Amino acid sequence: MMKVLEETIDVVENSFVRKALESGQKIVGYTCLATPREIFDAAGLFPYRIKALGKGETEMADAYLSRFNCGFCRSCLQLGMDGTYDFLEGMIETNGCDHLRGMFENWQHVAPRPFFHYLRVPHLIDDDSRDWFIDELERLIEALQEYFGVAIEPEQLTAAIETQDRIAEKFKKIYESRWGQRFKVTGSEIMSLMLAEGSLPSADFEKLLDDFAEELDRRKALSYSARLFMGGAATDEVELVAGLEELGGLAVADHFCFSGRAYRRDTTATEPLGKLAEIYLKNLLCPRMFMNYADRKAFVSEKIAQSGAEGAILFHNKFCDLHGIENVKLRLDLEEEGIPVLVLEKEYGAAADIGRLKTRVQAFLERITRIKR
Ligand code: SF4
Repeated sequence: MMKVLEETIDVVENSFVRKALESGQKIVGYTCLATPREIFDAAGLFPYRIKALGKGETEMADAYLSRFNCGFCRSCLQLGMDGTYDFLEGMIETNGCDHLRGMFENWQHVAPRPFFHYLRVPHLIDDDSRDWFIDELERLIEALQEYFGVAIEPEQLTAAIETQDRIAEKFKKIYESRWGQRFKVTGSEIMSLMLAEGSLPSADFEKLLDDFAEELDRRKALSYSARLFMGGAATDEVELVAGLEELGGLAVADHFCFSGRAYRRDTTATEPLGKLAEIYLKNLLCPRMFMNYADRKAFVSEKIAQSGAEGAILFHNKFCDLHGIENVKLRLDLEEEGIPVLVLEKEYGAAADIGRLKTRVQAFLERITRIKR
Protein backbone atom coordinates (compact mmCIF):
# COMPACT_ATOMS: atom_id res chain seq x y z
CA MET A 1 0.00 0.00 0.00
CA MET A 2 1.19 3.53 -0.70
CA LYS A 3 3.21 5.10 2.16
CA VAL A 4 0.88 8.09 2.45
CA LEU A 5 -2.12 5.81 2.82
CA GLU A 6 -0.36 3.65 5.40
CA GLU A 7 0.42 6.71 7.48
CA THR A 8 -3.10 8.18 7.34
CA ILE A 9 -4.76 4.93 8.42
CA ASP A 10 -2.23 4.40 11.18
CA VAL A 11 -1.65 7.74 12.92
CA VAL A 12 -4.04 10.57 13.73
CA GLU A 13 -1.46 13.36 13.71
CA ASN A 14 0.00 12.61 10.28
CA SER A 15 2.73 14.50 8.42
CA PHE A 16 0.16 16.70 6.63
CA VAL A 17 -1.22 17.81 10.00
CA ARG A 18 2.28 18.64 11.26
CA LYS A 19 3.07 20.56 8.05
CA ALA A 20 -0.15 22.57 8.40
CA LEU A 21 0.60 23.38 12.05
CA GLU A 22 4.14 24.49 11.16
CA SER A 23 2.70 26.83 8.49
CA GLY A 24 0.23 28.27 11.02
CA GLN A 25 -2.83 26.80 9.28
CA LYS A 26 -5.73 26.15 11.69
CA ILE A 27 -7.28 22.66 11.79
CA VAL A 28 -10.98 22.08 12.52
CA GLY A 29 -12.30 18.64 13.46
CA TYR A 30 -15.63 17.18 12.37
CA THR A 31 -17.03 13.64 12.24
CA CYS A 32 -20.29 13.48 10.37
CA LEU A 33 -20.47 13.09 6.58
CA ALA A 34 -23.12 15.87 6.54
CA THR A 35 -20.44 18.49 7.29
CA PRO A 36 -19.47 20.33 4.03
CA ARG A 37 -15.67 20.43 3.87
CA GLU A 38 -15.92 23.06 1.12
CA ILE A 39 -16.76 25.70 3.73
CA PHE A 40 -13.46 25.08 5.57
CA ASP A 41 -11.49 24.91 2.32
CA ALA A 42 -13.00 28.25 1.27
CA ALA A 43 -11.94 29.70 4.64
CA GLY A 44 -8.34 28.47 4.23
CA LEU A 45 -8.80 26.06 7.15
CA PHE A 46 -7.85 22.35 7.24
CA PRO A 47 -10.97 20.18 7.85
CA TYR A 48 -9.95 16.98 9.65
CA ARG A 49 -12.46 14.13 9.99
CA ILE A 50 -12.23 12.83 13.56
CA LYS A 51 -11.67 9.09 13.77
CA ALA A 52 -10.10 6.52 16.03
CA LEU A 53 -8.47 4.33 13.37
CA GLY A 54 -9.64 1.16 15.07
CA LYS A 55 -7.92 2.02 18.38
CA GLY A 56 -10.38 0.57 20.90
CA GLU A 57 -8.87 1.68 24.23
CA THR A 58 -11.51 3.67 26.22
CA GLU A 59 -10.60 3.50 29.91
CA MET A 60 -10.75 7.31 30.40
CA ALA A 61 -13.70 7.89 28.06
CA ASP A 62 -15.86 5.26 29.76
CA ALA A 63 -16.04 7.48 32.85
CA TYR A 64 -17.93 10.03 30.74
CA LEU A 65 -19.62 7.98 28.03
CA SER A 66 -20.71 4.66 29.49
CA ARG A 67 -19.89 1.31 27.88
CA PHE A 68 -23.50 1.12 26.65
CA ASN A 69 -22.48 3.62 23.99
CA CYS A 70 -20.96 3.09 20.55
CA GLY A 71 -17.34 2.00 20.78
CA PHE A 72 -16.33 4.30 17.91
CA CYS A 73 -17.58 7.34 19.83
CA ARG A 74 -15.94 6.24 23.09
CA SER A 75 -12.64 5.61 21.26
CA CYS A 76 -12.70 9.05 19.64
CA LEU A 77 -13.50 10.63 23.02
CA GLN A 78 -10.57 8.74 24.55
CA LEU A 79 -8.22 10.28 21.93
CA GLY A 80 -9.74 13.67 22.65
CA MET A 81 -9.05 13.24 26.36
CA ASP A 82 -5.50 11.81 26.05
CA GLY A 83 -4.25 14.76 23.98
CA THR A 84 -4.06 13.00 20.60
CA TYR A 85 -6.38 15.63 19.08
CA ASP A 86 -4.91 18.66 20.85
CA PHE A 87 -3.84 19.94 17.41
CA LEU A 88 -7.49 20.83 16.68
CA GLU A 89 -8.19 24.56 17.03
CA GLY A 90 -11.88 23.87 16.64
CA MET A 91 -14.56 21.20 16.51
CA ILE A 92 -17.90 20.97 14.70
CA GLU A 93 -20.53 18.96 16.55
CA THR A 94 -23.39 17.50 14.53
CA ASN A 95 -26.49 15.62 15.70
CA GLY A 96 -25.42 12.52 13.71
CA CYS A 97 -26.74 10.28 16.46
CA ASP A 98 -27.10 10.48 20.25
CA HIS A 99 -23.84 8.60 20.81
CA LEU A 100 -21.96 11.08 18.66
CA ARG A 101 -23.54 14.03 20.48
CA GLY A 102 -22.56 12.45 23.79
CA MET A 103 -18.99 12.17 22.50
CA PHE A 104 -18.76 15.80 21.41
CA GLU A 105 -20.40 17.28 24.51
CA ASN A 106 -18.27 15.28 26.92
CA TRP A 107 -15.18 16.07 24.86
CA GLN A 108 -15.90 19.81 24.93
CA HIS A 109 -16.56 19.54 28.69
CA VAL A 110 -13.34 17.63 29.54
CA ALA A 111 -10.83 18.84 26.90
CA PRO A 112 -12.44 21.93 25.32
CA ARG A 113 -11.31 23.17 21.89
CA PRO A 114 -10.99 26.99 21.57
CA PHE A 115 -13.62 27.05 18.78
CA PHE A 116 -16.74 24.86 19.08
CA HIS A 117 -19.82 24.99 16.87
CA TYR A 118 -22.97 22.88 16.74
CA LEU A 119 -24.15 22.25 13.14
CA ARG A 120 -27.72 20.99 13.30
CA VAL A 121 -28.49 18.59 10.44
CA PRO A 122 -32.19 17.95 9.63
CA HIS A 123 -33.51 14.36 9.74
CA LEU A 124 -35.94 14.88 6.90
CA ILE A 125 -35.27 15.59 3.22
CA ASP A 126 -37.69 18.14 1.73
CA ASP A 127 -37.70 21.78 0.60
CA ASP A 128 -38.26 23.11 4.15
CA SER A 129 -35.38 21.09 5.62
CA ARG A 130 -33.18 22.14 2.70
CA ASP A 131 -33.88 25.81 3.43
CA TRP A 132 -33.36 25.18 7.13
CA PHE A 133 -30.01 23.54 6.44
CA ILE A 134 -28.96 26.54 4.32
CA ASP A 135 -29.61 28.72 7.40
CA GLU A 136 -27.49 26.32 9.45
CA LEU A 137 -24.63 26.56 6.93
CA GLU A 138 -24.86 30.37 7.02
CA ARG A 139 -24.67 30.21 10.83
CA LEU A 140 -21.54 28.03 10.54
CA ILE A 141 -19.93 30.43 8.06
CA GLU A 142 -20.64 33.43 10.32
CA ALA A 143 -19.14 31.63 13.32
CA LEU A 144 -15.99 30.66 11.36
CA GLN A 145 -15.55 34.17 9.92
CA GLU A 146 -15.88 35.72 13.38
CA TYR A 147 -13.56 33.35 15.26
CA PHE A 148 -10.87 32.81 12.59
CA GLY A 149 -11.03 36.35 11.16
CA VAL A 150 -11.54 35.08 7.60
CA ALA A 151 -13.93 35.99 4.79
CA ILE A 152 -15.83 33.20 3.03
CA GLU A 153 -17.11 34.58 -0.30
CA PRO A 154 -19.53 32.82 -2.69
CA GLU A 155 -16.81 32.61 -5.38
CA GLN A 156 -14.52 30.74 -2.96
CA LEU A 157 -17.35 28.32 -2.09
CA THR A 158 -18.04 27.75 -5.79
CA ALA A 159 -14.35 27.03 -6.44
CA ALA A 160 -14.25 24.63 -3.45
CA ILE A 161 -17.36 22.81 -4.72
CA GLU A 162 -15.79 22.40 -8.16
CA THR A 163 -12.66 20.95 -6.54
CA GLN A 164 -14.70 18.43 -4.53
CA ASP A 165 -16.75 17.51 -7.63
CA ARG A 166 -13.51 16.78 -9.50
CA ILE A 167 -12.14 14.77 -6.56
CA ALA A 168 -15.42 12.81 -6.28
CA GLU A 169 -15.23 11.85 -9.96
CA LYS A 170 -11.66 10.59 -9.49
CA PHE A 171 -12.69 8.60 -6.40
CA LYS A 172 -15.70 7.13 -8.26
CA LYS A 173 -13.43 5.95 -11.10
CA ILE A 174 -11.29 4.00 -8.64
CA TYR A 175 -14.38 2.78 -6.68
CA GLU A 176 -16.07 1.52 -9.90
CA SER A 177 -12.86 -0.05 -11.29
CA ARG A 178 -13.94 -3.09 -9.24
CA TRP A 179 -17.00 -3.66 -11.39
CA GLY A 180 -15.22 -5.63 -14.12
CA GLN A 181 -14.40 -9.35 -13.61
CA ARG A 182 -10.72 -8.42 -13.30
CA PHE A 183 -9.89 -5.62 -10.87
CA LYS A 184 -6.90 -4.41 -8.86
CA VAL A 185 -8.11 -2.64 -5.70
CA THR A 186 -9.60 -4.10 -2.53
CA GLY A 187 -12.45 -2.79 -0.41
CA SER A 188 -10.09 -2.03 2.47
CA GLU A 189 -7.95 0.11 0.14
CA ILE A 190 -11.04 2.03 -0.99
CA MET A 191 -11.84 2.66 2.67
CA SER A 192 -8.22 3.74 3.27
CA LEU A 193 -8.59 6.29 0.49
CA MET A 194 -11.68 7.76 2.14
CA LEU A 195 -9.93 7.84 5.50
CA ALA A 196 -7.15 9.78 3.79
CA GLU A 197 -9.80 12.11 2.32
CA GLY A 198 -10.65 13.19 5.86
CA SER A 199 -7.01 13.40 6.99
CA LEU A 200 -5.43 15.48 4.21
CA PRO A 201 -5.94 18.95 2.73
CA SER A 202 -8.03 18.68 -0.47
CA ALA A 203 -5.16 19.45 -2.87
CA ASP A 204 -2.96 16.75 -1.30
CA PHE A 205 -5.83 14.24 -1.39
CA GLU A 206 -6.46 14.94 -5.07
CA LYS A 207 -2.77 14.30 -5.80
CA LEU A 208 -2.99 11.07 -3.76
CA LEU A 209 -5.92 9.91 -5.94
CA ASP A 210 -3.95 10.66 -9.11
CA ASP A 211 -0.89 8.77 -7.80
CA PHE A 212 -3.08 5.86 -6.67
CA ALA A 213 -4.76 5.63 -10.10
CA GLU A 214 -1.32 5.55 -11.75
CA GLU A 215 -0.16 2.81 -9.36
CA LEU A 216 -3.28 0.79 -10.17
CA ASP A 217 -2.37 0.84 -13.86
CA ARG A 218 0.89 -0.90 -13.02
CA ARG A 219 -0.73 -3.60 -10.85
CA LYS A 220 -1.80 -7.15 -11.70
CA ALA A 221 -5.45 -8.15 -11.25
CA LEU A 222 -6.44 -9.59 -7.87
CA SER A 223 -7.63 -13.18 -7.38
CA TYR A 224 -10.77 -13.72 -5.34
CA SER A 225 -13.43 -16.35 -4.57
CA ALA A 226 -16.48 -14.09 -4.18
CA ARG A 227 -17.63 -10.54 -5.01
CA LEU A 228 -19.16 -8.84 -1.98
CA PHE A 229 -21.11 -5.73 -1.14
CA MET A 230 -20.17 -4.40 2.31
CA GLY A 231 -22.17 -1.83 4.25
CA GLY A 232 -23.48 -0.43 7.47
CA ALA A 233 -21.10 0.85 10.11
CA ALA A 234 -17.70 -0.71 9.97
CA THR A 235 -16.81 2.85 10.81
CA ASP A 236 -13.06 3.44 10.17
CA GLU A 237 -11.75 -0.08 10.75
CA VAL A 238 -9.59 -0.78 7.70
CA GLU A 239 -7.82 -3.68 9.41
CA LEU A 240 -11.15 -5.38 10.05
CA VAL A 241 -12.20 -5.14 6.40
CA ALA A 242 -8.73 -6.19 5.20
CA GLY A 243 -8.74 -9.12 7.63
CA LEU A 244 -12.07 -10.37 6.29
CA GLU A 245 -11.04 -9.87 2.66
CA GLU A 246 -8.04 -12.17 3.31
CA LEU A 247 -10.58 -15.02 3.26
CA GLY A 248 -11.06 -14.49 -0.48
CA GLY A 249 -14.29 -12.46 -0.66
CA LEU A 250 -13.44 -8.95 -1.90
CA ALA A 251 -15.68 -5.89 -1.56
CA VAL A 252 -16.62 -4.63 -5.04
CA ALA A 253 -18.98 -1.98 -3.68
CA ASP A 254 -19.91 -0.57 -0.26
CA HIS A 255 -21.88 2.10 1.54
CA PHE A 256 -19.72 2.55 4.61
CA CYS A 257 -19.85 5.89 6.43
CA PHE A 258 -16.09 6.22 5.82
CA SER A 259 -16.30 5.18 2.14
CA GLY A 260 -19.07 4.61 -0.40
CA ARG A 261 -21.53 6.86 1.38
CA ALA A 262 -19.53 9.85 0.09
CA TYR A 263 -20.26 8.63 -3.42
CA ARG A 264 -23.18 10.83 -4.44
CA ARG A 265 -23.08 14.62 -4.94
CA ASP A 266 -26.31 15.16 -6.87
CA THR A 267 -27.70 18.73 -6.85
CA THR A 268 -29.87 20.95 -9.07
CA ALA A 269 -29.19 24.17 -7.17
CA THR A 270 -27.30 27.05 -8.82
CA GLU A 271 -25.97 29.10 -5.91
CA PRO A 272 -23.22 27.63 -3.68
CA LEU A 273 -25.07 27.33 -0.35
CA GLY A 274 -28.08 25.72 -2.03
CA LYS A 275 -25.68 23.28 -3.73
CA LEU A 276 -23.97 22.39 -0.44
CA ALA A 277 -27.30 21.90 1.34
CA GLU A 278 -28.46 19.49 -1.37
CA ILE A 279 -25.11 17.69 -1.77
CA TYR A 280 -24.77 17.04 1.97
CA LEU A 281 -28.41 16.55 2.95
CA LYS A 282 -30.24 14.99 -0.03
CA ASN A 283 -27.38 12.53 -0.66
CA LEU A 284 -26.95 11.55 3.00
CA LEU A 285 -27.27 7.74 2.93
CA CYS A 286 -27.30 7.45 6.72
CA PRO A 287 -30.03 5.60 8.70
CA ARG A 288 -30.36 8.71 10.88
CA MET A 289 -32.47 10.15 8.03
CA PHE A 290 -36.23 9.67 8.59
CA MET A 291 -38.57 8.32 5.89
CA ASN A 292 -35.68 7.80 3.47
CA TYR A 293 -35.08 4.04 3.77
CA ALA A 294 -36.34 3.46 0.20
CA ASP A 295 -33.61 5.71 -1.21
CA ARG A 296 -30.91 3.96 0.81
CA LYS A 297 -32.21 0.53 -0.17
CA ALA A 298 -32.29 1.61 -3.83
CA PHE A 299 -28.66 2.75 -3.58
CA VAL A 300 -27.61 -0.61 -2.09
CA SER A 301 -29.54 -2.65 -4.68
CA GLU A 302 -28.18 -0.49 -7.50
CA LYS A 303 -24.57 -0.89 -6.34
CA ILE A 304 -25.02 -4.66 -5.90
CA ALA A 305 -26.40 -4.90 -9.46
CA GLN A 306 -23.77 -2.59 -11.02
CA SER A 307 -20.84 -4.28 -9.25
CA GLY A 308 -22.02 -7.85 -9.72
CA ALA A 309 -21.82 -8.54 -5.99
CA GLU A 310 -22.83 -12.11 -5.10
CA GLY A 311 -23.61 -11.42 -1.43
CA ALA A 312 -23.73 -8.63 1.14
CA ILE A 313 -22.09 -8.24 4.55
CA LEU A 314 -23.70 -5.59 6.77
CA PHE A 315 -21.89 -4.38 9.91
CA HIS A 316 -22.97 -2.50 13.01
CA ASN A 317 -21.28 -1.59 16.27
CA LYS A 318 -22.73 -2.89 19.49
CA PHE A 319 -25.37 -0.44 20.81
CA CYS A 320 -25.69 1.27 17.41
CA ASP A 321 -29.47 1.25 17.04
CA LEU A 322 -29.47 3.19 13.76
CA HIS A 323 -27.45 0.65 11.79
CA GLY A 324 -28.60 -2.30 13.89
CA ILE A 325 -32.24 -1.79 12.95
CA GLU A 326 -31.46 -0.77 9.34
CA ASN A 327 -29.36 -3.91 8.78
CA VAL A 328 -32.23 -6.18 9.84
CA LYS A 329 -34.59 -4.53 7.33
CA LEU A 330 -31.95 -4.49 4.58
CA ARG A 331 -31.22 -8.20 5.14
CA LEU A 332 -34.88 -9.14 4.82
CA ASP A 333 -35.34 -7.05 1.65
CA LEU A 334 -32.12 -8.19 -0.05
CA GLU A 335 -32.67 -11.88 0.80
CA GLU A 336 -36.12 -11.52 -0.76
CA GLU A 337 -34.33 -10.39 -3.95
CA GLY A 338 -32.14 -13.50 -3.80
CA ILE A 339 -29.05 -11.73 -2.42
CA PRO A 340 -27.43 -13.72 0.43
CA VAL A 341 -26.80 -11.41 3.43
CA LEU A 342 -24.65 -11.73 6.55
CA VAL A 343 -25.26 -9.24 9.38
CA LEU A 344 -22.32 -8.80 11.76
CA GLU A 345 -22.71 -7.03 15.12
CA LYS A 346 -19.28 -6.22 16.50
CA GLU A 347 -17.30 -4.48 19.19
CA TYR A 348 -15.44 -1.44 17.84
CA GLY A 349 -11.70 -1.87 17.45
CA ALA A 350 -11.71 -5.22 19.22
CA ALA A 351 -8.90 -7.20 17.59
CA ALA A 352 -10.10 -10.16 19.68
CA ASP A 353 -13.43 -10.02 17.84
CA ILE A 354 -11.87 -10.47 14.39
CA GLY A 355 -11.45 -14.22 14.90
CA ARG A 356 -15.16 -14.68 15.58
CA LEU A 357 -16.10 -12.48 12.62
CA LYS A 358 -13.75 -14.39 10.31
CA THR A 359 -15.46 -17.68 11.22
CA ARG A 360 -18.85 -16.17 10.36
CA VAL A 361 -17.58 -14.79 7.05
CA GLN A 362 -15.86 -18.09 6.14
CA ALA A 363 -19.20 -19.91 6.52
CA PHE A 364 -20.92 -17.17 4.49
CA LEU A 365 -18.40 -17.50 1.65
CA GLU A 366 -19.05 -21.26 1.60
CA ARG A 367 -22.77 -20.51 1.32
CA ILE A 368 -22.11 -18.23 -1.70
CA THR A 369 -19.90 -20.90 -3.31
CA ARG A 370 -22.70 -23.47 -2.90
CA ILE A 371 -25.21 -21.07 -4.46
CA LYS A 372 -22.88 -20.39 -7.43
CA ARG A 373 -22.51 -24.12 -8.21
S1 SF4 B 1 -21.75 3.76 14.35
FE1 SF4 B 1 -23.85 4.19 14.96
S2 SF4 B 1 -23.77 4.84 17.09
FE2 SF4 B 1 -21.70 4.98 16.23
S3 SF4 B 1 -21.51 7.06 15.51
FE3 SF4 B 1 -22.20 5.86 13.76
S4 SF4 B 1 -24.41 5.98 13.81
FE4 SF4 B 1 -23.68 6.67 15.81
